[in-house]
Amino acid sequence: MNTNQNEKVRCLIIGSGPAGYTAAIYASRANLSPVLYEGIQPGGQLTTTTEVENFPGYPEGVTGPVLMEDLRKQAERFGTDIRVGIVTQTDLSEAPYKVTIDGEKIIEAEAIIIATGATAKYLGLADEQKYAGMGVSACATCDGFFYRKKVVAVVGGGDTACEEALYLSSLASKVYLIVRKPYLRASKVMQERVLNNPKIVVLFEHNTVGLFGENGVEGAHLVKRIGEPDEENVDIAIDGFFLAIGHKPNSDVFRPWIDTDEIGYIKTIPGTPKTKVPGVFAAGDVADPHYRQAITAAGSGCAAAIEVERYLSEIGK
Ligand code: NDP
Repeated sequence: MNTNQNEKVRCLIIGSGPAGYTAAIYASRANLSPVLYEGIQPGGQLTTTTEVENFPGYPEGVTGPVLMEDLRKQAERFGTDIRVGIVTQTDLSEAPYKVTIDGEKIIEAEAIIIATGATAKYLGLADEQKYAGMGVSACATCDGFFYRKKVVAVVGGGDTACEEALYLSSLASKVYLIVRKPYLRASKVMQERVLNNPKIVVLFEHNTVGLFGENGVEGAHLVKRIGEPDEENVDIAIDGFFLAIGHKPNSDVFRPWIDTDEIGYIKTIPGTPKTKVPGVFAAGDVADPHYRQAITAAGSGCAAAIEVERYLSEIGK
């Protein structure tokens, strides 16, 4: 590859969720001429949610897609160069750092903000693949519409699972919530809403071991109290199977160069978005195992852009 063909940028932002767009707003207002690559899911995870009620500044709430469109417009207004593309390889061994887009184009960046977010996890059952797009989904708000007046199951016991179960209960005739522990991990308010919803049946201490159906999901094989002496096989008839068991941070492409924890969350210097590579910063869910909120992601994107500005001025770029 002839390096003369590489495009040089001062500030490269990877990801288009609240962290990426907020970083872009700050970086463009600081005249850093940021280039932002949207990644696999333009707008990030919020584009798959309905109502966002906890983002400050929207007293009546806002839908996820509208919020992300607003953030995008704000970044564009100040001149961010927003592009379609996915990072397929990185070389962070020395500055300027080399980032390959879509396996072809190489960007040489003086500073990078990694804001690649996290992706929904699956149980790892072969049947999840078999029935992909035929009754298996990791996004109730994307696919719930197809299950009006039908029976669905949601797997998980956290806030996401409760939120998805509640959302689906407004469409489906019945919602099973399959929880592997004898309790929900979700916040008290969400637990109460779920437990008081007549359409939601919570199956505590149940694990899913398979799905069945001729031309799509028709049911799930569950095991109650798996591994215990009173273990019991339970089959439920369902039309849709929704995963809500957490997320995996999208950090693999950076792993050779920066530290992550055992799950893959990028490790930053505590209280800062700095990774161990000078000029490479991480913001949003990819580096946040604790809060994972749109507003905390936006805040860390802001901090990362401010750090880029300081870094570039220190190195005279
Ligand atoms: P969490 O990690 O909080 O919960 C994951 C859930 O999935 C747990 O109940 C876990 O069970 C279960 N689980 C994980 N792996 C498996 C498996 N292999 N089989 C069966 N069950 C499994 O993830 P969430 O996505 O729910 O939430 C992430 C963060 O986002 C949290 O901090 C949450 O509070 C926040 N959030 C906030 C919202 C809001 O405020 N409106 C909405 C959504 C999320 P176990 O408990 O046994 O580990």
